[in-house]
Amino acid sequence: MSKRGAYLCGLVAVLFTASAISAQTKLSPKWEELTAADFRQGIQESKGTCLVPFGILEKHGPHLPLGTDLLNVRYASLHAVEQEYAIVFPEYYFGQIFEAKHEPGTVAYSVELQLKLLQETTDEMARNGCKKIIIVNGHGGNEHLLPFFAQAQMDKPHDYVVYVLDGERSRPGGPAKKSSGVDYHAGENESSNTLVTHPDLVHLDRAAIESGADQKRQNLPEFVYTGIWWYARFPNHYSGDGSAATKELGEWNMLGWISSIVEAIRSVKADDASLKIQNEFYEKAKHPLDTRP
Ligand SMILES: [Zn+2]
Repeated sequence: MSKRGAYLCGLVAVLFTASAISAQTKLSPKWEELTAADFRQGIQESKGTCLVPFGILEKHGPHLPLGTDLLNVRYASLHAVEQEYAIVFPEYYFGQIFEAKHEPGTVAYSVELQLKLLQETTDEMARNGCKKIIIVNGHGGNEHLLPFFAQAQMDKPHDYVVYVLDGERSRPGGPAKKSSGVDYHAGENESSNTLVTHPDLVHLDRAAIESGADQKRQNLPEFVYTGIWWYARFPNHYSGDGSAATKELGEWNMLGWISSIVEAIRSVKADDASLKIQNEFYEKAKHPLDTRP
């Protein structure tokens, strides 16, 4: 072999070894893809920070898949952890969706099971080292459930903190919207997002065959709440106009969502106050008569 040939061989060997090592050391963020030993390393690397992207199975207008919320929240979460590592729990869709029980494909677990399953899931995550659990909400119907769940952690001592991250909200400053009026569910925003995350699952040509208009069938002041409010306003389980969706709006929305998850992961990793304050609270809650101002 010539001197030059030997040099090239050596160089190839070095490059090959380097890439093999980096393939070995690059940890997957997905819980289910890690080996047991790599999981231990992942917990270290993430500083015990783990995400539960929370979706649902429900109708999304006439044109989007049942799992839209799960698909989109996982897309956003998995892109966020590329920028700031955290372990991502597998597909989780056991949330609040009673208001869509009249539509095909909805899976609505009981209140008891929703709370018990979420509690046992976070307990098990924490037992495995996830001491900071960020629930990334992808479903509007969970917006009361999740703060309630977080609040309920004060009932009994836990050696971990639950952080709840609100769902994606359209930020101002992006491409101008084409539709006007409410856009809560499977409308221009969510359809645009899904055009980015799973374009093959969007049937934009069907988006106008049902109405997503607010039917305003209740006549009550805004500060009076009823469980039927959603069905009264949006009986087709569709709110907004999905036919106005564009990829440009979806890209803007998804970038904003991803960056807010990254920001949340970074601030949660840096948070050394919440667990200490929780522990102080649990201790004092054992003997309230000793609590003095
Ligand atoms: Zn949705």
